[in-house]
Order: sequence, then C-alpha cells, then structure tokens
Amino acid sequence: MICGLTIWPAVRTMLEQINQSGMKMAEINLNLERCKGCGLCIGACPIDNLRISGTLNRQGVEPAEVIDPNRCTGCGMCFRICPDMAIEIRRAPSKAGSEVAG
Ligand code: SF4
Ligand code: SF4
Repeated sequence: MICGLTIWPAVRTMLEQINQSGMKMAEINLNLERCKGCGLCIGACPIDNLRISGTLNRQGVEPAEVIDPNRCTGCGMCFRICPDMAIEIRRAPSKAGSEVAG
C-alpha cells in the first residue's frame, strides 16, 4: 500500500523542479493587515515558503509573509487553512486557458 508520506518526497522534488524551470505557477497575495499571525499557514506550506515577518501590523501582531512569491506552487494549502481569509491565490492559466482563483 502506498501512503501520502511515501510519495511526498517525490512530489516535493517535482514541485521544486518546476519552480527551478522558471515557470510561474501562481500569484499569491497575503493581506498583512488582515493577518493575525497565528502561523497556521506557515505549518501548512509544503515548500516552507511562508514565515513570520518580524514587523507589526495595525493589529499589533507580526503577520505572516511570503518568502518568495515566485516559488509558490498555487497548491492552496495556506489559503484553505487561514481562518481570517487573509490569503488569495490566483493560479496560472491552465492549458485550456481557464484561471482558478482561490
Ligand atoms: S499556495 Fe501552497 S506553495 Fe504557495 S505559499 Fe501557499 S501553501 Fe505555500
Ligand atoms: S493562517 Fe492566515 S491569519 Fe494565520 S498567519 Fe497565516 S495568513 Fe495570518
């Protein structure tokens, strides 16, 4: 039986290779003023592309920030887990020309 943990390293490698090819897969927008700095998105990102910013927002908390927007795969894990809807994802157009916004 194959479980997710078994295939995850291969999936991760594939995503990194796509990133290194220079092909941008998604646009990510993290609303720093909406973010309450809970860190859930940081733990959810499979490529460790989010971190706490180190500066305070108007709520007086340190919001999360995207480390490298060009590395974002558009997987949507951060978008799904964020309790404050502070993250927007816009995936690159598919071959069919459609666009999916998270
Ligand atoms: S969409 Fe996926 S890869 Fe991009 S920052 Fe969020 S969790 Fe990470
Ligand atoms: S999950 Fe949402 S509120 Fe929490 S740190 Fe990430 S962006 Fe901010």
